[in-house]
Amino acid sequence: MTDRYAVIGNPIAHSKSPALHAAFARQCGQDIRYEAILGPLDGFRASVEAFRQAGGRGMNVTVPFKEEAFRLATRLSDRAARAGAVNTLLFADAEIVGDNTDGAGLVRDITINLGCALAGKRILLLGAGGASRGVIAPLLAEQPAALAIANRTAVKAETLAAQFADIAPVEGGDFGRYAGRNFDVVINATSASLSGQSLPLPAGLFASGALAYDMMYGKGETPFLQLAREQGAGRCADGLGMLVEQAAEAFFVWRGVRPVTGRVLADLRAKLAA
Ligand code: NDP
Repeated sequence: MTDRYAVIGNPIAHSKSPALHAAFARQCGQDIRYEAILGPLDGFRASVEAFRQAGGRGMNVTVPFKEEAFRLATRLSDRAARAGAVNTLLFADAEIVGDNTDGAGLVRDITINLGCALAGKRILLLGAGGASRGVIAPLLAEQPAALAIANRTAVKAETLAAQFADIAPVEGGDFGRYAGRNFDVVINATSASLSGQSLPLPAGLFASGALAYDMMYGKGETPFLQLAREQGAGRCADGLGMLVEQAAEAFFVWRGVRPVTGRVLADLRAKLAA
């Protein structure tokens, strides 16, 4: 019997997940069906239950339901517990297992696809929302020399940093705090680009050859990457690879097979540019 999976979000029409998982399933010879479900804003739990009762085996969860999925799960992976959010559900007998593959996706994109080792690097993470929180523990697991968080609302960065202090020292503050310092990797996890706003980055933030990484992606260069290039970043990358890698990690969680992502990412990039 064909196993059923779905992505749930609101809005959902533009989700790339159905195409990604169809490509992974073809490549790995897995008999699955994957659909997109528009979750009513006040009906997330009921939608998940309906899909599970209909024989669904797992779901991806996207905006705005990741925190609700965290609360719905009856068991959490360590990385989901740390992230405080769930983007992957696995229905296993009576359990609803919540996982979070965003951080693993980011780290895999940077270290494998972009070939940029994070060990010993100084990393600056911009933003202190859900996306930022989800990637901190996986970034720390790479053993960077330092991890700092900069956010428009300083107290949020400070609070977030303190929540990971048991793993390694993490610094938090507003953008101005990092004036006069530089970093090897600067990751944009704010949603400023979505509204076309640019970030108040202090000059000289990018060390020689630094990687600027924007979790956002789109047809052209994102506002953050444009700014980073103007400020001397050595290398720029958007979040399309993270999107593909978090999906591949979810596929691995469900099916126990890891898809090869290079071709799938290249096809998606070509479609986005068309
Ligand atoms: P949240 O709403 O949880 O957090 C938004 C963050 O952006 C906050 O830190 C907020 O600061 C900051 N921010 C918003 N507007 C501005 C601005 N004008 N100037 C400075 N800072 C600003 O969003 P998420 O964390 O869920 O998502 C962030 C981004 O990451 C989105 O663009 C999303 O698309 C992307 N993303 C990409 C993924 C991928 O697979 N490529 C996966 C997940 C997310 P403050 O606290 O001061 O309000």
